[in-house]
Amino acid sequence: MKVPFLDITAQHQPLMADIRAAIERVLTSNTYILGPEVAAFEQAVDQMVAPARTLGMSNGTDALLVALLGLGIGPGDQVIVPGFTFFATASAVIRAGAEPVFADVDERTFNLDPAAFEAAITARTRAVIPVHLYGQCADMDAITAVARKHGLKIIEDAAQALGATYHGRPAAALGDVAAVSFYPTKNLGAIGEAGLLATADPALFERCRILRNQGMEPRYQHHYVGGNFRMDGIQGAVLRVKLGMLASWNQRRNEYARIYDQRLSRVVTTPWVQPGNTHIYHQYTIRTPRRDALKDYLAERGIASEIYYPIPLHCQPCLREYAGAPLPVCERVAAEALSLPIAAQLSPAQIEYVADQIERF
Ligand SMILES: *Cc1c(COP(=O)(O)O)cnc(C)c1O
Repeated sequence: MKVPFLDITAQHQPLMADIRAAIERVLTSNTYILGPEVAAFEQAVDQMVAPARTLGMSNGTDALLVALLGLGIGPGDQVIVPGFTFFATASAVIRAGAEPVFADVDERTFNLDPAAFEAAITARTRAVIPVHLYGQCADMDAITAVARKHGLKIIEDAAQALGATYHGRPAAALGDVAAVSFYPTKNLGAIGEAGLLATADPALFERCRILRNQGMEPRYQHHYVGGNFRMDGIQGAVLRVKLGMLASWNQRRNEYARIYDQRLSRVVTTPWVQPGNTHIYHQYTIRTPRRDALKDYLAERGIASEIYYPIPLHCQPCLREYAGAPLPVCERVAAEALSLPIAAQLSPAQIEYVADQIERF
């Protein structure tokens, strides 16, 4: 049996007629950037992340950058980020002219450790970026308590977490501002580059909306040095079609996670869901000290698996100047984490086969 990690074409197959119609609408609309299709998509996502409101962006990395710029974070400022996340969480801080400060993560959730966050605060700290890694929200009550005590802004990196909830509240509405990614492999993926910014703060929303379009409002009057951070019409149109499937896809991922939990919890460390969280399993990530051998064993049996992420940020060649103390949990999970296939388009038999092979290993 073959088990691919992700088959995006299979995801589109049952939606093809609606996707083609959406593309056709844009093709004949004379509006190819932002426009009515992006506005309609924004309104649809607004329902999911209320009380936040959303802005369609060029991608998740740019959404993080615009969130930072919108908050006025720049040279001289520090922003605390977890050491175990995708590179863009930290690179956006540097692009904004500020300095990332890495903090360790929680062993069980892979998310920012609130105590490590508090310990990393200095007089120059302006904000924190908790990442909802793999589709599970960070410990936001504890993080918010620390942030409020020290007067810090909270930027959620919800790139992997649209549809997740935290004590009944939606990811991307838990901090001051949030960034979401629609990179094609995310649970909700565009057919190219796309992302989203969300905030419930009307003044910040306005600044970010203007920053998205060259800092310009009205035409040829530039208030800020923004950029071209706009979403394409075609992405908004296709994303709105796919958004209708997101809840059922996330539900299917949860069913597969239950199968893996039951089959694997005796042989490897299976994901821990913090009480109050609904996980959307962007990744189902196990831990084992024999990670590399297991990955090879699975590959020999037709099973794809991925390592997110093999190198913690403070160990990246271009980020070493920002590295402080060692981050032992980040280093340990980077050596032990392995993400298993969990796409909604896989069959239960394929999931059982993956579990069989891991048990045999
Ligand atoms: C995907 C991702 C991003 C970047 O999103 P892009 O749309 O690829 O720019 C940022 N942070 C995390 C945690 C991600 O997974």
